[in-house]
Amino acid sequence: MDEEPERTKRWEGGYERTWEVLKEDESGSLKASIEEILFKDKRKRVFERHGQVRLGMMRHLYVVVDGSRTMEDQDLKPNRLTCTLKLLEYFVEEYFDQNPISQIGLIVTRNKRAEKLTELAGNPRQHINVLKKTVDSCCIGEPSLYNSLNLAMQTLKHMPGHTSREILVVFSSLTTCDPSNIYDMIKCLKASKIRVSVIGLSAEVRVCTVLTRETGGTYHVILDESHYKELLMHHVTPPPACSTSECSLIRMGFPQHTMAALSDQDAKPSFSMAHLDSNSEPKLTLGGYFCPQCKAKYSELPVECKLCRLTLVSAPHLARSYHHLFPLDAFKEIPLQKYEGESYCRGCDGELKDQQVYICTVCQCVFCIECDLFIHDTLHCCPGCVHTAPTPPGV
Ligand SMILES: [Zn+2]
Ligand SMILES: [Zn+2]
Ligand SMILES: [Zn+2]
Repeated sequence: MDEEPERTKRWEGGYERTWEVLKEDESGSLKASIEEILFKDKRKRVFERHGQVRLGMMRHLYVVVDGSRTMEDQDLKPNRLTCTLKLLEYFVEEYFDQNPISQIGLIVTRNKRAEKLTELAGNPRQHINVLKKTVDSCCIGEPSLYNSLNLAMQTLKHMPGHTSREILVVFSSLTTCDPSNIYDMIKCLKASKIRVSVIGLSAEVRVCTVLTRETGGTYHVILDESHYKELLMHHVTPPPACSTSECSLIRMGFPQHTMAALSDQDAKPSFSMAHLDSNSEPKLTLGGYFCPQCKAKYSELPVECKLCRLTLVSAPHLARSYHHLFPLDAFKEIPLQKYEGESYCRGCDGELKDQQVYICTVCQCVFCIECDLFIHDTLHCCPGCVHTAPTPPGV
């Protein structure tokens, strides 16, 4: 096994020299200076995104949750398990919001075993229901990293080559109980082009460092709950595709929700095909989404047709994925004194009174900082440009 490369630890001097950045204002207060640092940090995200990178837009992600006894620790409130499941609920929502043509599966590992909570699927509701139920489960024994990775790999390696295969492990324990050599498993994962990332809840564990480094994932240990949430949210954005992954065109169907007319004599209620793999009670309904290829009925989108394997999505879903490929350029920041123009923000209509204003380089509209962040983090398109810009290709 190869040695870990040299790396700067925080305590070896790679930290920011905060005391040199902080400056007192005339009244001797640090408030303005601290606000400025926080400000810059917020906006940094806007610049981090750059276009011209091939992204894995169709993602298959297994989330492995540690269910070992260490999850009962109360350093996160009310305990690690409850906190994790709550954050994961939010994560699943965000994931499907930003990756509407992707899938997630959930795995839990406890008592030296790993079991699937949900299969890979594209419907957030099913995963969230399971996460809600898992809160009541007890945390027992040790986790097994090997068994969890193996379980995820068995499914992921059969996924088409153009999709992004990922595993995200939430690891609380400092030990793992493995039936076989984990370094062989790491080699297999690497060969199957599966990217493994780990979020640690206690401290850095060496095997996770090697695992994430070899497979091209990331490894972070949380500081507190808000940091935890932030780390999870990093995994919402699609990762750059590995240079070796295949490219391909994917057939998709865009069914519209249709309702059989009540007056229609032939209209009979029918089952949705989606109940086939869920434990929910099948319900008879009149309307639904009908696969354009085989006419199978579904009550929700997105879904992969159970009969003909066609990916069924709604057009707005696909459009939501678009902004990852063509992110909105950062706005130009200029001091308010130097800005001569409208004195109201184009976004919220509020008076511009912060020290800086933000200007769209395309339409020259002016925005306040709050609107700048909202536009780049949530909206992904400039409200000023919308009226003038041509429709982006493919939407
Ligand atoms: Zn079909
Ligand atoms: Zn505004
Ligand atoms: Zn604009």
